Amino acid sequence: MSTIGWIGLGNMGRPMTANLVEAGHTVQGFDVVTEAVAAAAEHGVKAVDSLAEAVAGTDIVFTMLPKGEHARAVYLGDDGVLAHADTKTLLVDSSTIDFDSARVLHEEAAKAGFRFVDGPVSGGVTGAEAGTLTFMLGGSDEDVAEARPFIEPMAGNIFHAGGEAAGQAAKIVNNMMLAISLEGVVEGAVLARRFGLDPKTFYDIAKVSSGDSWPLRTWYPVPGVTETSASNNGFAPGFAAALMHKDVGLALAGGESQGVDLPAAELVYAQLQKLLDDDLAGLDTTALIRNIDPNAEGLPN
Ligand code: NAD
Repeated sequence: MSTIGWIGLGNMGRPMTANLVEAGHTVQGFDVVTEAVAAAAEHGVKAVDSLAEAVAGTDIVFTMLPKGEHARAVYLGDDGVLAHADTKTLLVDSSTIDFDSARVLHEEAAKAGFRFVDGPVSGGVTGAEAGTLTFMLGGSDEDVAEARPFIEPMAGNIFHAGGEAAGQAAKIVNNMMLAISLEGVVEGAVLARRFGLDPKTFYDIAKVSSGDSWPLRTWYPVPGVTETSASNNGFAPGFAAALMHKDVGLALAGGESQGVDLPAAELVYAQLQKLLDDDLAGLDTTALIRNIDPNAEGLPN
């Protein structure tokens, strides 16, 4: 079996490494938070004290970090991956980061003689635990083919989205569209209620009509309508508003750098910002309904 370097053992990195250990790999794990390393060691990750030790002698290195700035620092810093890894090691960044940072990482890795793949994921902590994440990969055919068997123990679906930064592009656009359609669903759920419609009756109609969408079917934000809605559970996440705010922000940054006007994304970003300003970043994204109806059923007081 292979030796894998892993940097970033947070909510996602911890369960993802557990699946790699389970598959028989040696995983050398590092995080700036020592408790995160200790927690990962409990499921068999080999705890190391530095990034340099994590990447030493590895076939592949994965990073699972919060944002573009962290990924840039971890790869490009004086004490970073490009400075310490062997150029034989394949590099995969699975963090969700901005398109421009992903392009920079591809460019700088290539300049330093490395092969690099951007590989953000969708599926959340539950998907990470179950090993059913969707991976969206950006890079050359050869590099993606080499990364694939390492990714399999963590994944339900693996897509080669295209060349450099294509994985991030797919992830960013998908989540932007999700946020925009969710805003439609929360507004519709409130208006339907005010019109006097029974929520379940309206849901059943919309589900087989042209108002249907993934967030309608999966996240309808009224308790007792659809099993998988966070509204059944006091709007506990699920998909936290803070993460969606970040992801829509990445879309807006992409719109700016690509010269694309994104008025609906701007609107939903402002709606998410309201939740953050009210210290509700930790609630599920469907708490967007609070901006339309502060007394919506199921919201925490
Ligand atoms: P997290 O904040 O729980 O984990 C990130 C980890 O990176 C932290 O433990 C942090 O200490 C570590 N870190 C930061 N800087 C570091 C450095 N310089 N060196 C080493 N470690 C460093 O975040 P998460 O929820 O695990 O998410 C990771 C990425 O996956 C994010 O980009 C997020 O957007 C994306 N993502 C998350 C989810 C989810 O549901 N949590 C779903 C899909 C994608």
